[in-house]
Amino acid sequence: MPVTVLSHPACNRHNVGSDHPENPARLHAISDQILSSGLEFVIHQRDAKAADVEQIALAHDRAYIQSVISKSPSAGQVWLDDDTAIMNKSLEAAMYAAGAGIMAVDLVMQGHDQQVFCAIRPPGHHAESAQAMGFCVFNNIAIAAKYALAQFGLRRVAIIDFDVHHGNGTEQIFRTDERVLFCSSFEHPFYPYTDPIGTPLCLKMPLAAGSQGAAFRQAFTSEWLPALRAFQPELILVSAGFDAHQEDEMAHLKWTEHDYAWIASELKQLAQEYCGGRIVACLEGGYAHSALGRSVVAMLKAWI
Ligand SMILES: [Zn+2]
Repeated sequence: MPVTVLSHPACNRHNVGSDHPENPARLHAISDQILSSGLEFVIHQRDAKAADVEQIALAHDRAYIQSVISKSPSAGQVWLDDDTAIMNKSLEAAMYAAGAGIMAVDLVMQGHDQQVFCAIRPPGHHAESAQAMGFCVFNNIAIAAKYALAQFGLRRVAIIDFDVHHGNGTEQIFRTDERVLFCSSFEHPFYPYTDPIGTPLCLKMPLAAGSQGAAFRQAFTSEWLPALRAFQPELILVSAGFDAHQEDEMAHLKWTEHDYAWIASELKQLAQEYCGGRIVACLEGGYAHSALGRSVVAMLKAWI
């Protein structure tokens, strides 16, 4: 079964300037690398649909959603937090970014696809139920998880977050939800400076600055894999950030695209073992454009 990539041109109309690291060149870099890899012939590329307010409200307070809508400017920029700006096209982009995750859940749960990567922006995993944060407006992966639980009656959804930053928003949204096992690796100490101690349903893997992919692989195998096997997920969701790459100057880990291929392969094996191969991955960070594009292609190749 082919691997699917979902995106939408609206995601690239969110543009708060090329001096902001979270800019449209990121998705262009991914498209360019997919094109030059030759993979376009073996992956299924589709346009995402937009989410609606009801779907966003699966993971966010309605008052927060209304505040984002009312703050959306017709010109210029509005800052939702110190790092997160929106302009007149940002709300539409955020609705398509969240909608991609929902559409991807439909595709895998209805048996049309197995592994789906959502090439979307703005990213989502820092956004809490009532707070934009760290370039994120709506928490795309949390909305996808809530949708999968509600729409398909799932009882066990695993979320793997290998972005270099901890997915604080995802942790906050699922803190009291026993249907979700959240596993997050991150450089520590580093933004967003959350407590590195996890719980049985929120596994945290703090990684020292300068550490290589081997440290992640070892902890994944010895700590996360047994917990994931015991949990027996019915669906695997991935907050796929690529800013732990050694070429990415946003942080200080030393991963390479081979590490992303390894993670993708491990997750596919796990998905085949427990949930019919169903994986939905949403793009989070990744700011070194060439490394980002190469890492996404490495992940897609591992799935193919
Ligand atoms: Zn990040």
